[in-house]
Amino acid sequence: MSSTAHDLTVLTGLRKHGDAWQDMGLCRTQGEDLETFFSSDLVGRAKSICIRCPVIDDCRAWIMSVEDGLSATSRDGVFAALTSDERAALDPEVRRREAEAAKRRSENKPAPRPDRPQPAAAPVRPLDELKALPLDDLDLTARVHNALRRMDIHTVGDLIALTEAEVRSIRLCGAGAFAQITDRLAALGLALREPQPRVRDDLKPCGTTAAAKRHERAGEPLCAPCLAARASRAQRRREEQQDALVYAAWMRGLTDQDIAHATGFASVVVRRARARQGLQAHERQGAHAA
Ligand code: SF4
Repeated sequence: MSSTAHDLTVLTGLRKHGDAWQDMGLCRTQGEDLETFFSSDLVGRAKSICIRCPVIDDCRAWIMSVEDGLSATSRDGVFAALTSDERAALDPEVRRREAEAAKRRSENKPAPRPDRPQPAAAPVRPLDELKALPLDDLDLTARVHNALRRMDIHTVGDLIALTEAEVRSIRLCGAGAFAQITDRLAALGLALREPQPRVRDDLKPCGTTAAAKRHERAGEPLCAPCLAARASRAQRRREEQQDALVYAAWMRGLTDQDIAHATGFASVVVRRARARQGLQAHERQGAHAA
């Protein structure tokens, strides 16, 4: 018996062998065509009828017992607002069988292939050991080798202390020699020294007199760090001038008071200038005698 014929029989049986609940099913009382419950195009309509059916719970219990253990492909039609797939999914026996089948499939899967063996990595040599290697180990041509030796370069360490520009400036070290040197160093995982980048004035951070000048060139007001830098530089210049004048007066044997009178500085300025230079104050002539 085909599944459709089976289900038609079931539904017909539902219609024919009515218990009390079966007589109340809308599929029976509404005069709906049986095909409504077996057409894939009319699933929505069939479900809408079942949902309104007053005996939907009885119908569901009945169809689940009738189809007990059947796979989804052996079921058909809409009963109690459930399609064949939905009823099979609710059947514990069907679910148990599907779980077992899934487990078997996973167990029969071929074992994952082991990764291909990776070639062993070259042993890493300590940098100090590499730097101590003599130039002979680089297998340079005699011409390049001699050119380097003339510049007092005898080891790999001597070589990698040079920048590209320095190597290119060596006599008889042209483009070919330079390529040869960099290739040999690269084989050891080494390279020539990178030149130190020069910091341009326009990249200097604020808080320096150069940065203050940059503000001025740009017509900008000085920021606080640049103002402080400018003030401290002006202060240093002022102090240098004070020190020079105080020193000249002190060399003439003048006391602090006389130096202040001669230079026009305040006494405290004179004392500080003298202290900065480590000069002892001169006593006024005859002060002790008095
Ligand atoms: S639930 Fe649907 S199939 Fe079941 S008796 Fe009611 S209308 Fe008929």
